[in-house]
Amino acid sequence: MMNIPLNIATMLERAEMFFPKKQVISRMKNGIVRHTYKEIGERTRKLASALRTLGVNTGDRVGTFAWNHHRHLEAYFAIPGIGAVLHTINIRLSPQHIAYIINHANDRVLLIDDDLLPLIERVKDEINVEAFIIMTDEPTLPETALSPVYHYEELLQQAEPISFVKDIDEHHPAGMCYTSATTGNPKGVLYSHRGIVLHSMALGLADSAALSESDVALPVVPMFHANAWGLPFAAVWFGTTLVMPGAAFTPKILAELMEQEKVTLAAGVPTVWLGLLNELEKGTYDLRSVTRILCGGSAAPKGMIRAFEEKYGIPFVHAYGMTETSPLVVLSRLKSYQQHVSNEEKLDIRAKQGFLVPGVEMKVIGKDGEVAWNGTEMGELCLRGPWIADEYYNDERSKDAFRDGWLYTGDVVTVDEEGFIKIVDRTKDVIKSGGEWISSVDLENALMAHEAVFEAAVVAVPHPQWQERPIACVVVKEGKHVTKEELYDFLRPQFAKWWLPDEIVFMNEIPKTSVGKFLKMKLREQLRDYFTN
Ligand code: ADP
Repeated sequence: MMNIPLNIATMLERAEMFFPKKQVISRMKNGIVRHTYKEIGERTRKLASALRTLGVNTGDRVGTFAWNHHRHLEAYFAIPGIGAVLHTINIRLSPQHIAYIINHANDRVLLIDDDLLPLIERVKDEINVEAFIIMTDEPTLPETALSPVYHYEELLQQAEPISFVKDIDEHHPAGMCYTSATTGNPKGVLYSHRGIVLHSMALGLADSAALSESDVALPVVPMFHANAWGLPFAAVWFGTTLVMPGAAFTPKILAELMEQEKVTLAAGVPTVWLGLLNELEKGTYDLRSVTRILCGGSAAPKGMIRAFEEKYGIPFVHAYGMTETSPLVVLSRLKSYQQHVSNEEKLDIRAKQGFLVPGVEMKVIGKDGEVAWNGTEMGELCLRGPWIADEYYNDERSKDAFRDGWLYTGDVVTVDEEGFIKIVDRTKDVIKSGGEWISSVDLENALMAHEAVFEAAVVAVPHPQWQERPIACVVVKEGKHVTKEELYDFLRPQFAKWWLPDEIVFMNEIPKTSVGKFLKMKLREQLRDYFTN
């Protein structure tokens, strides 16, 4: 066979060649703008040329600090298109972490949305960036303390489109993204051309996300979070119409966008879909075009899947992945011979994270080696495959997560007889009580199913006799009231006695990470001496 290196530029070339009329639709400050793939191709080649003129070379890192829109998409292809590395920076990180990752990645140039400028201005004295390109719809540059600054559209106007570099090693980095950190600094993951191309192919498989030319795809998941789950790359390659939601969207804006643009596939985290569900209950929208919602990042509650499907006829696909895995590795679809089970059982199966997409491998390591596939034994999920990172970029912590050719995900799972995995916890959050494991996530989900509970986080607290015992932290919904005893009565029928939290603490708020996940470390610190004092 020919030894042709896999390369991202060929994806955009395909769109230019076969789908010049298909569109990228972006919601910008002054309304919807539409570009054809022909225009996107030309603009991308001009951006590539402008970056070259600014001195960006093969292997250099170029950071983006932006929402989901056509300009960010152009950066997705222009930067790797000249052999440089696209570093998507999570705008929701703390200033300290933003400065850390810009420096750690050694970004030479930053592309910044005008409304996000203050976040970079705050760290300007701590970073060493040679040029700032401002992405704006305005004809002139905004006032800024950054220097030197360039106007994105002006750079494009002045540039001559160039050809992309394709004869680079397929293992050469094309992108990078840092995981949000709960402890210490964020960790960087490099994505190779090869990894991105193969991952895109996986998104197109019929039994996976089945992304195709006929789709109208809306990545709600930010382009600064694991490459918007790889959708922008795959969508361009397949000639899929892309709808980009832009800055500061609300559930109402999303619902309107989905209706107007006849979106067929939308992808995002559960909180987005909970918000949309709420909106659908208030307004009247025609979302019959939607053939599936792809949901991942944290567990999709079964009740939410049911509401979308039964009330609104919108199919739901639950998936699992992480920054380190590009991210798609596991997806929940019923097998053909599982179709005859009751609707309730189908929902139970599909609310699990699912089984491996073709191309990656797994093993699950418990207390005594690989766990049995019985749906109860818990172990850590380990993964390997061509779109899974093999280290953290320049980071000593690599050796904890990457061992013997496997990524130790830090996710504790059970595997059922059919190979469906269910995430039960993070390794650091699972509660080890008297040699047995208790899933904090199961307890949290049960508590959050109570009609008066807004949020619940369950943490392991050191215990003199049992090693660790669970304590539940609960936030009550506004205007509702519930007692500790009522919550215990609610939990008792659902769990073995030894699983029940030793204490339920009411709080006003659960501390969260920059991406909105529970910051359990903080709760554990607060409650550390609970049983020993
Ligand atoms: P970050 O590391 O920045 O929080 P990631 O997207 O890399 O963001 O997070 C990956 C983690 O999110 C996984 O290790 C897992 O714990 C959790 N996760 C992802 N998808 C799911 C899912 N479908 N159900 C439960 N947890 C999930």
